[in-house]
Amino acid sequence: MGWTTPWAPTRAELAACVECGLCLPVCPTFRLTGDETASPRGRINAMRGVASGLLPLDASVAEVFEFCLQCRACEAACPSLVPFGRAMEGARAEATAALAAARVRRGVAGRWVARRRAVGVATWFAALGQRLGAGRWLPGPLGTGLRGMRRLRFRPRSSLGTTHEAVGMPIGTAALLAGCVMDPWFGEVHRAVIAVLTSAGYRVVVPAGQTCCGALAAHEGRAADADRMAETNRAAFAPFDLVVVDAAGCSAHLVGHGPGPTVEDAVVVVARLIDEGRLPTLPGHGTPVAVQDPCHHRHAQRITAPPRTIVRAAGYVAIDLDPDGMCCGAAGLYSQAHPDTSDQLGRAKADQVAGLGVDVVASANPGCEMQLRARVKTGVRVAHPVELYAEALLAFRRGSTAATPT
Ligand code: SF4
Ligand code: SF4
Repeated sequence: MGWTTPWAPTRAELAACVECGLCLPVCPTFRLTGDETASPRGRINAMRGVASGLLPLDASVAEVFEFCLQCRACEAACPSLVPFGRAMEGARAEATAALAAARVRRGVAGRWVARRRAVGVATWFAALGQRLGAGRWLPGPLGTGLRGMRRLRFRPRSSLGTTHEAVGMPIGTAALLAGCVMDPWFGEVHRAVIAVLTSAGYRVVVPAGQTCCGALAAHEGRAADADRMAETNRAAFAPFDLVVVDAAGCSAHLVGHGPGPTVEDAVVVVARLIDEGRLPTLPGHGTPVAVQDPCHHRHAQRITAPPRTIVRAAGYVAIDLDPDGMCCGAAGLYSQAHPDTSDQLGRAKADQVAGLGVDVVASANPGCEMQLRARVKTGVRVAHPVELYAEALLAFRRGSTAATPT
C-alpha cells in the first residue's frame, strides 16, 4: 500500500542510505541487541519496504520504528548525510495514521502537553506524589519519573507573559520559549537564563501566546499536532529577532521546524556572551562537574563546546561524562514505552557519573536531567549549565566587585 500521509519519508531521504553500516556502532539499540532491525540501516530498510508496498505497516513494523530512541547518533556518523531524524518522524507519523493502538497511545503526547491546564493537573498530582514519597513505592517508569523530578510546587510560578528589563544599556530583545513542562517543572532554569541574559544586556520577553514546541508530538508521530503548535509559535514569536530555548530537545526541534525568527539554544547564546566579554569569567574554585551532552545537542545540533565554556566560566572544572555520546535512554516518552531499555541506558549513564566521583552533573535537557537524577546516588546534583553559571555570578557579585571579564 505504501505511505499515506504528507509527512512520509521521501524517496530522496531513503535513497541517501548506501547501507555502509558505519552508523551501527554508534546506535544504542543496535549495541544493546545486536539485531539488524534495531539498527539505523535496518530501520531505513523497513521504511523502504513499506514505501515500496512490499512490507505492510503492521504492529511488528511499527515496533521496528518505535524501538528507535530518535537520538540521531546515526545521523552524526553517517557519511551519506541521511536525514534519519526527519525520516523517522515521518515513519512514525505513518504508523500513527495506520494503527489505532498507536493513535490512542500517542494522542497523549500530541495533545495534552500543549494544554496548560492538563499539564497543571499532572503537575499537581506529581507534587502530591512527591509529598507521599510515591517515587519510592510506585512501580515501573512512573516511580522512576517521580524520583527524577525536581521538587514541584502544587501551583508553580509561571514565567509566561512576563517581561524582564536589561541591566544597563539594552543590546536587544530576546524571546524565551516557556515550553510545556519546562515552565512548571524546571522554572528555576528559566529564571537562571533570564537572569543571565538580562545581566548581559538583553531585555527578555516570555510571550503569553506561545505553546509547546511540538518536539514530543513530532517524535511520537503526531505530525499534524506538531504542525499546529509550530503555527501558534510562529505567530507568538513573529515580533522577535531572537528566540532563546533552554531545553536541548526543544531547541533541536525549533531549529529544524523554526517559528520564523532566529532560534538559538540558551547554552549557545550564553557561551557567546561569555566569549564576547559581555558576561564575566568567574574565579575558578576547582569543583569538578561532569558535562552530559544531550543527544539533541551533540548529535542533532553538534553543540558540545558551549556547555563546557559556561561551566568553566562558572569556576568549575569540566569533565566529559560520556566521550562516546550514548543516549541516556530518556528520549521523550521512550521510558514509558520501553522501560527496560530506557533503564539499562540510564543505569549505564549513572554508573559513569559514579565512576567519575563527581557531585555535580551539568545537563541541558529536562528528560536527561530526570533520567540521571532518578539513578545517581543521593547527594549528586543535576543542574542546567546556565543555572550553575547564574548561581556563581550571583555569589560573586554578592562577595566581590572585581569580576574578570574575558
Ligand atoms: S551510515 Fe548512513 S549510509 Fe551508512 S548505513 Fe547508516 S544510514 Fe545508511
Ligand atoms: S536515532 Fe539513535 S536509536 Fe535510532 S537508529 Fe539512530 S542511533 Fe539508533
